[in-house]
Order: sequence, then structure tokens, then C-alpha cells
Amino acid sequence: MTPSPVRNAVVLFGSPGSGKGTQAKLLTGRLGVPQISTGDMLRARLVSGNSLDLAVRANMQAGALVSDDVVNCMVEERLAQPDCALGFILDGYPRTADQAHHLSLWCESRGFDEVVIYLLVDYNKVIARLTGRRQCPRCGTLYNLTTRPPAVDGVCDRDGERLVTREDDQESVIRERLEQYRRQTVPLLEYFRQRGRRLLEIDASNDPPEVLFQKICRSIQPA
Ligand code: AMP
Repeated sequence: MTPSPVRNAVVLFGSPGSGKGTQAKLLTGRLGVPQISTGDMLRARLVSGNSLDLAVRANMQAGALVSDDVVNCMVEERLAQPDCALGFILDGYPRTADQAHHLSLWCESRGFDEVVIYLLVDYNKVIARLTGRRQCPRCGTLYNLTTRPPAVDGVCDRDGERLVTREDDQESVIRERLEQYRRQTVPLLEYFRQRGRRLLEIDASNDPPEVLFQKICRSIQPA
């Protein structure tokens, strides 16, 4: 009998602005499994305009976390899709103890191995990155005014769409998002350690995204 392939639930872990989204996109291309960004899913849900989502919108605008029930349910529905059968990359989930527990149960009952990639970035660098961040509203490509500017000012290189600043990338909201991260999300590192998860810590402060990506690939699959 051929052994069943290892199915990884890759968790990209790190503060807002640590580069999770960029690395998740690169990893998706390399591993051929989908990126699941809870932030993107929540923003898409708000665009589709469900009036029940007033609390979700208010939380996101204030830099607070959306309730565990809403997020866990959304992720579980997404993980049930066939494209997740061989693995997936989580970007921005889990962010609380309840979410981490929910994910662990899900993975354990279905034979997925959790691999946590922790991107460490200096606080002041994160603030600078987030205030300079711009995004294409059509294709989602991320830019940074200092480290990765578009070829033409204010316009997406890929599709020519005008770039936007996310509502929650205003400085006061950024500080609140970082505070939530410190209080609610950082403690999960201890949870992952206690449960014996593979936890790869990577210094993500200085390297450009492509170099960081090579480091991540080497640590996932050591030569
Ligand atoms: P992100 O794009 O990952 O920075 O997420 C943007 C916002 O979406 C966060 O500040 C939260 O309000 C909300 N959000 C995203 N992921 C989660 C999550 N796993 N749990 C709770 N709220 C989340």
C-alpha cells in the first residue's frame, strides 16, 4: 500500500505588516495549494454587503478582531472546498486561543500536520511598512511606497487599476491592530509549542520578499 502523502496546514504567523500575505502568495505558487486569508475573505464579505455584518465592519474599522464564531465558521466552510484537500496556507488565522484550538481539532481529526512559520519583524519597521502600504483593489497585489513601489505612481503594475490605502492602515488603527496582536495572538506561540507543532522562526525584518521566501522554503524542506 502506498503511504498517504503528508498534508500540511501551513500557518503564516506574524504581526500585521510582517509580510504574511506576500509570502502566502509565493508559497501558493510553489506548493500548489490555496492561500486562505481571513482578512481578504472578511473584506470580500463586506463588499458583498450583508447587513448582518455591521459588527464585522465596525470591528475591522477599529482595528479590533472579528468574533471567533464568525471567523471559525468562515474558515471551516472554506477548508471544506475540494482545493484544500491536499493542504493549504493560512494567512491571518488563527489569531486567538479559541481559533487555534478550533484549527488543531480540525487538523487532528483529518490527518493534517500544522506547520507554523513565524515571521519576526521589528515593531517600528512594521509601522513604517503598514503606513506605506498600498493595494490593488482588483487583483490584490501589495505595494509599498518605499520598499516596493509600483512602476507608475499610484497604479497597479499588473492591471493598471488605481491603488488604494486600506481603511485600517491609518496610523491610529495600525497601533490598535498591533496591540490586539500582542495581547491575543502572540500567546498562541506558547500554545503551538505545548502542542508540539513544528514552529519555524524566521527573521523577516530586513530581507526582500524573494530572499525571505527562499529562507522559508529551505526551512520547510531542509536540503
Ligand atoms: P488582515 O488583513 O489579516 O490584517 O486582517 C484585517 C482585519 O480583519 C483584522 O484587523 C481583523 O479585524 C479582521 N480579521 C482578519 N483575520 C481575523 C481573524 N483570524 N480573527 C479575527 N479577526 C480577523
